[in-house]
Amino acid sequence: MSDTISPKPGVEKIALYVGGESYLDGRDDVLKLSSNENPLGYPASAGKALDEVARDLHRYPSTDHLSLRTAIGEVYDLDPDRIICGAGSDEIIAFLCNAYGGEGTEVIHTAHGFAMHRISALAAGSAPVEVAERERTVDVDAVLGAVTPNTRLVFLANPANPTGTMLGGNEITRLVEGLPDDVILVLDGAYVEYVKDHDGGVALIQRFPNVFMTRTFSKIYGLGGLRIGWGYGAKEIVDNLNRVRGPFNLSNLQLAAAEAAVRDQHWVAACRAENASERLRLTNALRQMGLGVDQSEANFVLARFSSEDTAAACEAQLRHDGILVRKVGSYKLPNCLRITVGSAKDNDRVLKSIERWAE
Ligand SMILES: *Cc1c(COP(=O)(O)O)cnc(C)c1O
Repeated sequence: MSDTISPKPGVEKIALYVGGESYLDGRDDVLKLSSNENPLGYPASAGKALDEVARDLHRYPSTDHLSLRTAIGEVYDLDPDRIICGAGSDEIIAFLCNAYGGEGTEVIHTAHGFAMHRISALAAGSAPVEVAERERTVDVDAVLGAVTPNTRLVFLANPANPTGTMLGGNEITRLVEGLPDDVILVLDGAYVEYVKDHDGGVALIQRFPNVFMTRTFSKIYGLGGLRIGWGYGAKEIVDNLNRVRGPFNLSNLQLAAAEAAVRDQHWVAACRAENASERLRLTNALRQMGLGVDQSEANFVLARFSSEDTAAACEAQLRHDGILVRKVGSYKLPNCLRITVGSAKDNDRVLKSIERWAE
């Protein structure tokens, strides 16, 4: 290759996203708890919608996603004109960086924040600015202290991944009030549905036009393999995101499955309740074994060990027992393991394995 050909600045600084592992050589009993997937799968209604739409694959999909946006608007009581849909919320994050970032701009993310915030900022040509957290929780004062005249976006997952911690409404409001009007606060709400009666930032968006929210069908709706997410915020922001969005970014399959799933709120409530009780059981049992576990608001827990070596040894035991969890060294949490909350049976298997290791 010619050394005169090079990508725009920042691209070569991107450390590739590493997904949760799925396979162990020679084993057919692998329990995958590395990607925060729903142990109950996806709602039957979504499967039925997929079967039906599969007959129409010769048709181009809708470009405006009106039917899906209308359904999301009805279910979450939102104006469909202020909703944008994408191939996972990852794509919405990319739209935000592409529309508002670029050379000479800065994008703030936090030390244990979701990897795609930084990756999308670099891909757009922005300089990512990492802000330290306090005890694995976002530090509002540190975020505000990192703002410069070049800051365009602040990314915050709430609940956060991989820590599972969450900022309360007062802290988020204090953050927005401290931000300049021309900086967009993005509340990444991938796990919002796991928090009972939490609006993900809707009320805040009504008050502050520079707050934007992203959501996904990958977690509680169990459709990570299909790639569907959405965002909500000021009409002006949504209009700009649509300008950088490909017209056919979602297939007929994605649109139909998501629409059926979002209308299935009984399913969502059942998954939320099941997750909450299993998460509590897992948290208590791990604490009883002497591990540090912050209160998680999502569908995973972060188990904290005395050292990096101890965490690695426990991970090796889990792996030996056919269980895959997430190592989070790349999230600056080398002494921790992130464990997705599985079914009751899955969690029993995890606890037995860790008990065996602890002995
Ligand atoms: C899983 C996750 C997402 C979801 O990504 P999709 O592209 O919607 O699958 C977004 N943000 C965070 C913090 C996540 O953990």
